[in-house]
Amino acid sequence: MTPNPDETAWHSLDAADVASRLGVAPERGLDSSEAAKRAARWGPNALIEAPRPVMWRSFVRQLRSPLIGILFAAAVLAVALGEFGDATVIIAVVVVNAVIGTLQEGRAERSMAALRKLAELQVRVLRDGVESILAARDLVLGDVVLLAAGDAVAADARLLEATRFQVAEAALTGESVPVSKSTAALSEATALPERDCMVYSGTHVTAGRARSLVVAIGASTEVGRLAGLTEGAVDPPTPLEQRVRRFGRWLVGAALVLFVAVVALGMLRELSLSEILMVAISQMVSMVPEGLPVAMTIALAVGMRRMAERGAIIRRLSAVETLGSTTVICTDKTGTLTRNEMTVCTLWLPDARVVDVSGIGYAPHGELRMAGGVAIDADDAPLRELLCAAVLCNDAKMLLPNKEGAGWSVLGDPTEGALLVLATKAGIDLETLRSAAPREAELPFDPDTKMMATRHRFNADEEVRRVFIKGAPEAVLRLCAGSAQPAARTAADAMAARALRVLAFAELDDDSLDPLTTFSALTGRARLLGLIGQIDPPRDEAKAAVAQCRAAGIRPIMITGDHKLTALAIAREVGIAGRNDDRLAIDGAELERMGEGELRARVAEIAVFARVQPAQKLRIVEALQSRGETVAMTGDGINDAPALARADVGVAMGIAGTEVAKNAAKIVITDDNFATIVSAVEQGRVVYSNLKKVILFLFATSVDEVAILLLALLGGFPLPLAAVQILWINIVTEGVLTVNLVMEAPDGDEMQRAPVPRDDHLLDREMLIRVMLMAGAAAAVGFGWFAWRLASGTEVDVARTETFTLVVLCQWFNVLNCRSATRSALGVLPNPWLIGGLLLGAVLQAAVLYAPFLNEMFHTQPIPPIQLLSIIAAASIVLWIEEARKAFVRWLTRRRLALAGAVR
Ligand code: ATP
Repeated sequence: MTPNPDETAWHSLDAADVASRLGVAPERGLDSSEAAKRAARWGPNALIEAPRPVMWRSFVRQLRSPLIGILFAAAVLAVALGEFGDATVIIAVVVVNAVIGTLQEGRAERSMAALRKLAELQVRVLRDGVESILAARDLVLGDVVLLAAGDAVAADARLLEATRFQVAEAALTGESVPVSKSTAALSEATALPERDCMVYSGTHVTAGRARSLVVAIGASTEVGRLAGLTEGAVDPPTPLEQRVRRFGRWLVGAALVLFVAVVALGMLRELSLSEILMVAISQMVSMVPEGLPVAMTIALAVGMRRMAERGAIIRRLSAVETLGSTTVICTDKTGTLTRNEMTVCTLWLPDARVVDVSGIGYAPHGELRMAGGVAIDADDAPLRELLCAAVLCNDAKMLLPNKEGAGWSVLGDPTEGALLVLATKAGIDLETLRSAAPREAELPFDPDTKMMATRHRFNADEEVRRVFIKGAPEAVLRLCAGSAQPAARTAADAMAARALRVLAFAELDDDSLDPLTTFSALTGRARLLGLIGQIDPPRDEAKAAVAQCRAAGIRPIMITGDHKLTALAIAREVGIAGRNDDRLAIDGAELERMGEGELRARVAEIAVFARVQPAQKLRIVEALQSRGETVAMTGDGINDAPALARADVGVAMGIAGTEVAKNAAKIVITDDNFATIVSAVEQGRVVYSNLKKVILFLFATSVDEVAILLLALLGGFPLPLAAVQILWINIVTEGVLTVNLVMEAPDGDEMQRAPVPRDDHLLDREMLIRVMLMAGAAAAVGFGWFAWRLASGTEVDVARTETFTLVVLCQWFNVLNCRSATRSALGVLPNPWLIGGLLLGAVLQAAVLYAPFLNEMFHTQPIPPIQLLSIIAAASIVLWIEEARKAFVRWLTRRRLALAGAVR
């Protein structure tokens, strides 16, 4: 156990005292060796540790299934009937089944665990004197954690330093307004919501910066001690898992009905009770899809792995399947559809001069020219003032090319980096300017106000202090006095219509030393300095990804903080909006004026929501969901969290995203790229279609055997398969194949189909037709063979062995059939796992046919190789029938496409 925080009232101690009690130097953090010792002693920072998967436990769990209960009952019955051979086989089958189950479950668990690690919360800590990023679960007591706006608090900690630091503690205290924090020690009796010098796990930072010292981790944190909360740490079963379970239960019901039918028929035919009971039990066992749950886990794990390889990390398992059903993707613009590589290409000065800037990217090579080609630089007073604001009201840094071959780049927000590049092109020395006017106060950029402001003291004259403001033009212009407004608006709109991201700059003299608190205090006092337009080209792959979405029946919608005209211009470039319809775009203000009813009606056609405030995203998600859409929504900021949590698939940005957004999202994309979301959707569809392949396969095999059995019983024939043979087919030869089917590569046409309906049947119409074809053909061949061999005077045991082999072979051909609904089974090699499964199955089947002691147990006779060849040929009929159906479907699709093309 970790130490109980109750023992020490950390909030009542001085920061220095806390540090010394926890044995850490706050300016250096813990040494890694000490941290390792503490981790070994107190364990990980996790609410509940999932028990390590232990092999023998998993093995025992396999033995606890109802299926195994039935099999044990059958073994007892066999002993009672004196059939010791059968009893041995049944027990052996139980063991083999449990071994296969354990191995597969272990494989699934291992890959799941590795994938879950990717999705863990990250924290910034100071260790060995350097700042590093750690998984939250690796935090130990005494770690120095650095916190900034957007970070999630991952352990209880005492604040050491705090600057304008605010924390949202609603998750813990229910208080909805963020609380300001400070470092002063408090009286011991202070209640938890008032402990301003502490931060608690489960809350998140909304503003400012702080340095803190971890005093409690894992189950010892306040949130860990709240009973009941820990249950949330385990993923609940996903809708698909629930559906598969329901399907399984339905099959068990069907199996019971069948059991009664087989026994009744057998008794009518006056077969011996012992024989018919054994066969009926085996048949019932065969209908139970015991391979399905583990196949599903593996399908999900494989899907998660493929998504992770393409940059989409799954945080909630249910996202994998929901992705496949997604009908709308609401996406950000900047950085997601565009490259977020900004270059300033034009400026507008309040005297109405327009300046064009040459050069692309972050290399400061280029020129500034006015209309008529006249060069201009920072010696021009209005231009110098504008550039001065652009450099000072700016948090980015320019990085020089380095020896390792990296070219010019910027650190921080690319929008701001581009401004530094511009100023350098105009001949401004950034360092000289910064040191001549140190920053004294700031109002950081806020996506709600869409502005930032900084106040500077100009060294040359100690008395002069100026505030610079930069932000969205309409927001900045609202603060400005003067007559330049209408001209500036027209200029800003013209730039936005060219897909440029536009920033306006203003300044005011301000001698007060008060902190900058609100923008409204500046209203009417500012003087406009000019406008700057930046290009941010669309990502190369965005257009193709948008087209792919459309082909897949998914509607992409752009939701952005940028100007409507800029957003619409980019939306047109990538294909989200058409050329001529301006009605497809609305902005946040128009959205605000719309009632719920109107929004619900119009949301079906709107392609672009511009100048949206994060809180409005939630309304958009809800309006779409009320129309029955399955919505994926991207986001990065703290204020995006409610919409991310509400969306069917919340997608957080890995690069630009805050920890809070990542925490609320179901998936995180590591490259912030729209195309990555689309490829994750594709994988979601692949998972679902692979799972359906397994269901089809299991069902086809069961129906085949049941049909042969019933045909024989109805036709008055002896039983065509022995009980142990039925078990063998369903547990051994099927067991080594089922799971491997989910490893199949995608069909390739997943994104040409419509999204999977949320209430889709696991066994749909097309699958039922295929079951009828595959199982029908297999049963006809199997039963036909048995009847023909008996009629030609073959001994029953020999005819049974041949029929048994025929059923197994049909099963193998069917597994090949199930690999794709439309592609030929003969074109592409199966996945290596499936090939392995088939080879293993073949070896096992050969053993049952040719090893004398197994012959006895399984009531089989060795089949001469020549006879085997004719059995293989007969079984292959199931393959040819499916091949013919697939060819027909392909021909039909081609014809439909050709007709559609002709109509167009
Ligand atoms: P998206 O949501 O598609 O990523 P975005 O990045 O354009 O859109 P925001 O970052 O919220 O959205 O920016 C909204 C507006 O705020 C921009 O159009 C710009 O006018 C202004 N803006 C952006 N970055 C800054 C900044 N660093 N300082 C001042 N204003 C900014």
